[in-house]
Amino acid sequence: AETFRGQPVALFGLGGSGLATARALQAGGARLTAFDDNPRSVETATGEGIPTGDLHALDWTRIAALVLSPGVPLTHPKPHWAAELASAHGVPVIGDIEIFARERERLCRDAPFIAITGTNGKSTTTALIAHALRHSGRDTQLGGNIGVPVLTLDPPAPDRFYVVECSSYQIDLAPSIAPTVGLLLNLSPDHLDRHGTMENYAAIKARLLKDAGTAVIGVDDEWCARIADWHEGEGRPLVRISRSRELADGVFFRDGVLQVARGGEIERRISLGGIGSLRGAHNGQNAAAAVATLRALGLSFPEIEAGLRSFPGLAHRMEEVARVGSVLFVNDSKATNADAAAPALGSFPRIHWIAGGLPKEGGIASLESLFPRVAKAYLIGEAAPAFAATLGERIPYEISGSLQVAVENAAREAGTSGREEIVLLSPACASFDQFRNFEVRGDTFRQLVNALPGAEPITR
Ligand code: ADP
Repeated sequence: AETFRGQPVALFGLGGSGLATARALQAGGARLTAFDDNPRSVETATGEGIPTGDLHALDWTRIAALVLSPGVPLTHPKPHWAAELASAHGVPVIGDIEIFARERERLCRDAPFIAITGTNGKSTTTALIAHALRHSGRDTQLGGNIGVPVLTLDPPAPDRFYVVECSSYQIDLAPSIAPTVGLLLNLSPDHLDRHGTMENYAAIKARLLKDAGTAVIGVDDEWCARIADWHEGEGRPLVRISRSRELADGVFFRDGVLQVARGGEIERRISLGGIGSLRGAHNGQNAAAAVATLRALGLSFPEIEAGLRSFPGLAHRMEEVARVGSVLFVNDSKATNADAAAPALGSFPRIHWIAGGLPKEGGIASLESLFPRVAKAYLIGEAAPAFAATLGERIPYEISGSLQVAVENAAREAGTSGREEIVLLSPACASFDQFRNFEVRGDTFRQLVNALPGAEPITR
């Protein structure tokens, strides 16, 4: 990234994406000084030839920018010392998405750039859009918050599509973001620890859309509906999407079918029935967003439909792992709180539910209306006693303790009915009491399931 060639730049945070940013700035000829609280990260960077040093010792009157990594508090609960130092000297504080946006502006502002945000469904929608573009033969780069730092992608070029997942934090650090399509899926109170008030959180997310060529907005919550009305009032290009509501203009999901409406007429109907990776109304919202975005980018309906139908889904999000006889095993390890577990529980009629781990505030009480779908719960980890107390007499449960015992018992008990049954890992808990992270938890589930006698793995 040559945006800062010859200029002094400070960088704080040398984790995965911070290190990638440092490498890109260094390669682009910036005069970089990088730092991290963790001496090991500093050592790694120094070992690679990245200049590290004490940021306090810099002449801040001359620094062009402070680059922050995701995870470093910008404003809430209080600004990081590096951010304070920068703002005391009027130095802009930016992140890797901002550097990407400036590089695109410099090298090829026509390179289509799709920026995706929202509280839930970001990764799924990002992956779905990228998949459909690739499937249609477009040169496609996928990155951002989904786990691939944007500055490791191929450089902007005409007809090269960038599909980038943005956290609100990344948007906050990207003042000149102006995507071809800006997509806001939904907003619900989350990450308020970081952004203070809901007003502030919504305002940050809305910033992504302000200078977008086209804004695609999910209007199923009040916050987003208001943002959409604002865009309309300003006469800005806007496509509304909904997971439940009929729209005269836009893309909405109803009874398993996506409907593309224009001027009160239905232009196209796309059934999502039979697409296992897009099960559930929440995926109706994600797919509606993808269709609206892909249309705005000029894809034909046959191209879009082929992309949806061949979407393999993401690992750990309602991922169909294997069948054993008439039992389907589903890995939803990404559901690390009750809200995130609700879509999976709502997607199947009769569930052997593996839940538990490191408990989150509120437990599973909010899932009460879904309990009738649970044939039996298999409780693991530290949350087991509390979850058992919530379930009480209402549904049968056992305290399995470990994931292995839960899988074995659930497989045996689900297998005896002879009916179609679901064994679902949707823990509604963090994983750290028993696993390194939710990915390891999901991978362990997959291995345990595939080790069951008669397991037929489902390849994606
Ligand atoms: P994110 O990247 O925003 O965390 P993911 O695509 O990784 O979202 O999905 C995480 C979990 O959130 C899924 O397993 C599902 O339970 C739930 N989810 C996915 N899409 C939506 C949506 N549009 N609305 C509400 N919940 C969703």
